[in-house]
Amino acid sequence: MLRRIDVITLFPDWVQSFRDLGLTGKAVSSGEVLLKVWNPREFTRDPHRSVDDRPYGGGPGMVMRPEPIAQAVEAAIADGASQTVSYLSPQGQCFTQADASDLASHRESLLLLCGRYEGIDERVIEEMVDEEWSVGDYVLSGGEPAAMILMDAVIRLLPGVLGHPESAQNDSFSSGLLDYPHYTRPECWRERSVPEVLLSGDHAKIEQWRQLQATSRTAQRRPDLIENVAPSAEENIPSGSIHCLKG
Ligand code: SAM
Repeated sequence: MLRRIDVITLFPDWVQSFRDLGLTGKAVSSGEVLLKVWNPREFTRDPHRSVDDRPYGGGPGMVMRPEPIAQAVEAAIADGASQTVSYLSPQGQCFTQADASDLASHRESLLLLCGRYEGIDERVIEEMVDEEWSVGDYVLSGGEPAAMILMDAVIRLLPGVLGHPESAQNDSFSSGLLDYPHYTRPECWRERSVPEVLLSGDHAKIEQWRQLQATSRTAQRRPDLIENVAPSAEENIPSGSIHCLKG
């Protein structure tokens, strides 16, 4: 189970701010997960402490220099960080809920490498990076928000982090479906009523309604997910129906 995360970043404040954010930040600040931050700038020798340089071959932007990154990685590993180096990159494998679950339960530690500028010198990737994770098909200005997305998704799955462990089991993607809709008080808000079944106290019926909602909204919004769900869930999909969610 995951116990430690090391992040290599030129902007440690980004990652430090994670400590203050919600339940997952609390798990970090209370020490349930050790979070360490390494700044490649600390491993520079030149008077300007430069971490980037112009790209060979010309073109726009700057590239992160290899040596400060390599030394930051080596220092983190010597300190006990994971020996598997994970680079946050738009060119990486698309990070999913299944990956979050896998990392939470099968890794003891993560070493996350955040790029900036045009990215990092390709030779560091060849030499040191074991896996690349993308948080989606868009380009961020740095790997830090991507690292925080990954950390949040993973840490919330660790035992004791969420108040109710079942809430993660019912979340979108966990069973392959999107989550069912949720309601709280008041019973009637701006002429919209809570679906009657939820007030019935009949737990079997409520469960059936939620399963139907989850499958029908997955069919509407993410038909690509339906192909992978268990046949029992598929039976609940109303053929061709657009399900009205208004009470
Ligand atoms: N030139 C790079 C490309 O097009 O593949 C993008 C560089 S981006 C401006 C700077 C850094 O942000 C990357 O090195 C990476 O660490 C991070 N990054 C950007 N988009 C990301 C994404 N979708 N997922 C994960 N990391 C991302």
